[in-house]
Amino acid sequence: MQRIIDAHMHLSERRDDTLNHFAQKNRLRYTLGELLGTMRRHKIVRGLLLSPPLRGGVPLPNENVIRLCGRSDGMLAPVITVEPTAKEVKTAIKLAEEDRNEVKAFKVRLGYVKASAESPVFDRLYDYAESESLPVLFHTGDTAVSNGDLSRSHPLTLDGLANKREELTIILCHFGNPWFEDVAELIYKHPNVCADISGLITGGAYAEKYAEWLARKISEAIYFAGGADKVIFGTDYPVTKHADTLALVRRLEVDESDKEKILWRNAKRVYGL
Ligand SMILES: [Zn+2]
Repeated sequence: MQRIIDAHMHLSERRDDTLNHFAQKNRLRYTLGELLGTMRRHKIVRGLLLSPPLRGGVPLPNENVIRLCGRSDGMLAPVITVEPTAKEVKTAIKLAEEDRNEVKAFKVRLGYVKASAESPVFDRLYDYAESESLPVLFHTGDTAVSNGDLSRSHPLTLDGLANKREELTIILCHFGNPWFEDVAELIYKHPNVCADISGLITGGAYAEKYAEWLARKISEAIYFAGGADKVIFGTDYPVTKHADTLALVRRLEVDESDKEKILWRNAKRVYGL
């Protein structure tokens, strides 16, 4: 039976959530009930839930993400978002320790925060993540806001960290869009670096051509890397609809066995789901 894992989703059920406008654009209610219903309909058996940004630029508190996961019948597991201060790093580690069986990863919002992947403030986080074999997701590539910092969210900024920390599992979110070739090189070069395909689909005048371009870029990255062992399915709900991201996987010109790896096998292995 085909089973699917969505390794990148957001939810808050709050009015000050800045992803609400994506939900409106995609005609989504953006509620826990809708999300679980959609997952069941698409045979998505598990998902990772990440904090969405709130008005003012701060992420939804991690406690709220954990609480939402607690109401999900075991379908959602939390990812702890970590902001670049010593206090936030300490709190994030404490939360992960308290919820050791539930928390599956950490997330750093490169491009949105005033720190780079190699900022010393994250050293303790990386030490802990390595010791507990918890992956760290990094926002990479385009930022949803026009004042984001691309020099910090560029995927190549993760090369140095991956060199220094071979024990740390690094996930590049959004396949570094639009730097797909750079991500192809990173997942080829580093045994500990993977990429997710979340949040890539947008509407617009050339939606169909863009979808073709995306599928070609990701397929080519897989050819370059010599396989799809490092590519992970995620939607970035509500930024991208489940049906659209599943259609993107169907468009990939790769073997069915590689699609299966993308849809769930890789996430199961990497996140220990
Ligand atoms: Zn996201």
